[in-house]
Amino acid sequence: MAFEKEFLVSASSKQLEEWCAKRGFPRFRSDQIFRHIHDKLALNVESLSSLPKAVKEALAEDFYAPSSTIDAVAGSPDEVEKLRLALCDGEMIEVAVIPMNEKRTLCLSTQIGCPVGCRFCASGANGLVRNLSCGEIIEEFLYGCSRIGAKCDNIVFMGIGEGLLNTKELFAALEKLTGDFGMSPRRITVSTSGYIPGMEKFASLKREYNLAVSLHAPDDVTRAKLIPDALRYPVGDILEAADNWSRSSGRQYTLEYTLISGINDSVDHAERLGKLAYRHHAKINLIPYNDTSSQFRRPALRDIERFEETVAATGARVTRRVEKGKGAAAACGQLRAEKRHKEQ
Ligand code: SAH
Ligand code: SF4
Repeated sequence: MAFEKEFLVSASSKQLEEWCAKRGFPRFRSDQIFRHIHDKLALNVESLSSLPKAVKEALAEDFYAPSSTIDAVAGSPDEVEKLRLALCDGEMIEVAVIPMNEKRTLCLSTQIGCPVGCRFCASGANGLVRNLSCGEIIEEFLYGCSRIGAKCDNIVFMGIGEGLLNTKELFAALEKLTGDFGMSPRRITVSTSGYIPGMEKFASLKREYNLAVSLHAPDDVTRAKLIPDALRYPVGDILEAADNWSRSSGRQYTLEYTLISGINDSVDHAERLGKLAYRHHAKINLIPYNDTSSQFRRPALRDIERFEETVAATGARVTRRVEKGKGAAAACGQLRAEKRHKEQ
């Protein structure tokens, strides 16, 4: 989509300087605006009382300041809080604020909808609407920080969309977050369904971000039950691309595994997954399936525990996603999907 304006939250200091010059405002105004956004983590300049009305009005004419609004909030701050943002074209995306041991993690979206269309995921149920822009991603970050009242500790790109199919805008946002906003790349995780061309581009950045690969199966036959053919790559090739990423970033990667009853949760799956992860020096994160309206079911607790124990017995490092946010429409894309269903 072609946007009508620039996004204020992702403007560089140089861009703001040039804008001030063009509009005939003194140069120090650009520093003032830039610091307000980056030090105060502000999404707009309304609270910048020393900024003249004429500058504020001119900013609003030339920039989205901001482009989105909070449309709904679900959950609670001591569990998971989910924000639904309404974008300038009326589309909806989600941001989750996840507290854990005094730390706050933001889960951000990268696309509206998703073209991969995993059968268990609400985000991909109706395909891709469009990519998010860098400015929209930074707005997600700032809305998340505003709920916390401070800069978040971690960011995971595990909301709606396949970020590595939107590398141009995602990488610009990563650059902005680690540059002007001062986040450490070690505190940012990009999750992918195993889209290899995107993984290669991510590796070529040669930076210490984290990579999470949504494997969900130790073999291609099981994986094909969950992910449609069009954008699915073979397990062996995905692991090779992840190993290459590991070499170029100097970091271990995580394999995410959404556990679904009767599909990928057998003892045999667990043993093969554990051996694969051990061989590739990868960590495993088990995510018990959150019921969406699809045909799948979450395994019983004893089956989840048996799976985890079997993986651990192979020597692989395994953790289980802490179960939070059931009340906040826990699975990614569910809040947006709820809104869509109500409208239909
Ligand atoms: N597209 C990327 C990132 C967004 S999805 C990816 O697939 O990795 C983030 C994670 O949420 C993925 O591991 C995905 O498998 C998981 N997920 C999606 N829907 C889920 C559900 N209903 N229950 C449990 N995990 C889910
Ligand atoms: Fe897209 Fe990830 Fe959902 Fe698959 S799990 S449909 S890749 S958002």
